[in-house]
Amino acid sequence: MRTNKYIWYGTHQLFHGLTLTFSESAAGVFAAHSYKFDGTTSTFIVECDAETWRRANLAGMSDEETRAYLAEIFDKDLGGHALLSNNSKWINFLLVKNQYWSHQNVVLLGDALHTAHFSIGSGTKLALEDAIALYRCFAQGLDVSAAVQEFERVRKPVIDEYQQAAYESLIWFENAKDYMHLEPLPFAYSLMTRSKRIDYDNLKRRDPKFIAAYDKSKV
Ligand SMILES: Cc1cc2nc3c(=O)[nH]c(=O)nc-3n(C[C@H](O)[C@H](O)[C@H](O)COP(=O)(O)OP(=O)(O)OC[C@H]3O[C@@H](n4cnc5c(N)ncnc54)[C@H](O)[C@@H]3O)c2cc1C
Repeated sequence: MRTNKYIWYGTHQLFHGLTLTFSESAAGVFAAHSYKFDGTTSTFIVECDAETWRRANLAGMSDEETRAYLAEIFDKDLGGHALLSNNSKWINFLLVKNQYWSHQNVVLLGDALHTAHFSIGSGTKLALEDAIALYRCFAQGLDVSAAVQEFERVRKPVIDEYQQAAYESLIWFENAKDYMHLEPLPFAYSLMTRSKRIDYDNLKRRDPKFIAAYDKSKV
């Protein structure tokens, strides 16, 4: 169980593509992970560290009070739209890893086998890829025992790599307050390279304009 707290809301403010927003308050730093999921609604997940959560007294607030408090924190970003609750509760991210992937004819897939922090947004993809990989192992004509072993052999390196990237990202978010002193471009650079899967050269290939502006900001 990780230390940061997060809560999952919706909003009618539309965020086109994944948008990460950081807001500093008297209690501490709040981060919002938001993205549009249909024509009229976006997901809006708010995350903060345990100290911020305690200082803001969020444990003592009702659902309505919490939404009003966070809507105030993200006032500019929400553009006056309310936060929509769906039995939303503060939770801690559960980091799942398994030493054994199967037992006899039972095999784990998806989040039951491994979780990847939502800041890298890959959990559903990994779960679906697990299912496809397991299907392919059986489609080779292997018996149950050989198929589940083959499944683990094929998937483990992929899962380990994603979980490592997700872990780096999770640690960055747990320490977000340590980056708030940075100017916008170095802050964005730190955020984009947090999982250590994207480095300076990679970012330069993907977005040369951003790297040019980042380099200029350091002079
Ligand atoms: C805040 C947050 C944001 C996320 N954002 C993204 C994202 O943007 N992109 C992305 O790819 N992933 C994201 N994820 C991860 C993604 O949600 C999961 O990785 C994915 O849902 C895993 O799928 P799953 O089928 O393994 O498990 P689940 O989706 O958890 O499905 C398991 C199902 O089993 C049911 N169940 C449990 N116990 C029983 C039982 N005993 N009997 C019958 N049914 C049972 C549960 O009710 C549930 O419906 C996010 C996760 C979180 C926490």
